[in-house]
Amino acid sequence: MSDCLFCKIVAGDIPSNKIYEDAHLFAFHDINPQAPVHALVIPKRHIETLDDLTEPDRELAGHLLERTTHIARLLGVAEAGYRTMINTRSDGGQEVYHIHVHILGGKRIGPMVCRQSS
Ligand code: AMP
Ligand code: ZN
Repeated sequence: MSDCLFCKIVAGDIPSNKIYEDAHLFAFHDINPQAPVHALVIPKRHIETLDDLTEPDRELAGHLLERTTHIARLLGVAEAGYRTMINTRSDGGQEVYHIHVHILGGKRIGPMVCRQSS
């Protein structure tokens, strides 16, 4: 999709700090890291949200998860552990509408806290 930030990163039209790339996936460091290690893993194909995955995307979805573990290993956080996160739509806190898996590590992330705001 032409006006999608992450599609532009995949195309190289917006620079990124690349970690990994293959035929289907791209991984790069988050520009606003929330932990010492904060990476994003995305499919190269534009899919807006996790909720937009359909049955033909099964193989891609499996590849995305399996490669996420590989990228965590590349980043040196696999052994100590890391948090993976996929935010979906507005209540899920999604800001960029192109599926991405967050990898957060390099420190103890702690329990997940969801504050009730309303
Ligand atoms: P989310 O809130 O789950 O949609 O996450 C979007 C993530 O993209 C945030 O953690 C942002 O810091 C990150 N982000 C936004 N723009 C860029 C960029 N140009 N390069 C790398 N990460 C970005
Ligand atoms: Zn996109």
